Amino acid sequence: MEVVFTRRYKINLFFSLAVSLTAATFASYASPYLLKDVFSSVENYQGGIAAVVFIVFHLSLTSKYRKRKKIASAPLPEEWRSILSDLVLFYRMLSADDKYIFEKKVQIFLGEKRITGIGTDIDTTVKLLVASAAIIPVFKIEDWEYDTLGEILVYPDRFNHDYSFSSDSDDRDVLGMVVQHSSSLIISKKELFKGFKCMDGGNTAIHEFIHKIDEEDGEIDGLPVLMLNKHELAEWKRIRAAEIEKLESGRSDLDSYALSGEAEFLAVAGEYFFDHPEKMKEKNPELYNILKTIFKQDTASIIKSEARRLFRLKRK
Ligand SMILES: [Zn+2]
Repeated sequence: MEVVFTRRYKINLFFSLAVSLTAATFASYASPYLLKDVFSSVENYQGGIAAVVFIVFHLSLTSKYRKRKKIASAPLPEEWRSILSDLVLFYRMLSADDKYIFEKKVQIFLGEKRITGIGTDIDTTVKLLVASAAIIPVFKIEDWEYDTLGEILVYPDRFNHDYSFSSDSDDRDVLGMVVQHSSSLIISKKELFKGFKCMDGGNTAIHEFIHKIDEEDGEIDGLPVLMLNKHELAEWKRIRAAEIEKLESGRSDLDSYALSGEAEFLAVAGEYFFDHPEKMKEKNPELYNILKTIFKQDTASIIKSEARRLFRLKRK
């Protein structure tokens, strides 16, 4: 899988060449009229003006990918590799080739997105766990970009709906949050570590990133329209309705928070799919299969239950 020169890179390159050429042509024709008062022999420099305009436009429109190439070409620090290996089971279970791709995606994510601590320190481990939570659900989605995400805010612990995490607030029940049409995602540091350590069927950070993935089509509505065709989307709605019915009658092992709304259903089911896939595949095969189509991954072939058990034992 290509991590820098993706399909979107090629589209960007084509777009940049077309726009830069148009701007250069316009500059060449317009410069005698626009610059005649500045210097009289402007006609002699039309070619040069067009070349400068072309270069300036092209460099600025492709700067993202040049920066990205530089970020990805840096070697991964050995310390990062051992933190990922110790704390992120998903990474540890990947093949050598996929591990390399994961590392590059982590480097690019950390090079492009801001992670800010609010009342708490941000160290390398926090950054790597945030990046892992972002990369895991989209690892096999070709060309994925978190276009609507600008910054990740890390709070020390749970917070309330007024974003207060002070121990004086007794209503701190929010573990993480994505506000629609805002470029930020908020995650509690405590929950970030807990999600990767306990692996008890949930991972709040992955849950929040799934909301952000859901939002990339414009709405956080639990309908992953970018990942499913019309027929698959109808299947998703049918399977979701059946699972909600099971949940309401106490016959589903999905976390009941999935009943909070259609967007929450996707995020909760997604957490389960990435955290304990073999169990989900056995207990909710239809739901597992449609999530496999959404996220383009067969997680049960990566996170084996036995490896998961040993990982949890080691991290106790
Ligand atoms: Zn949620």
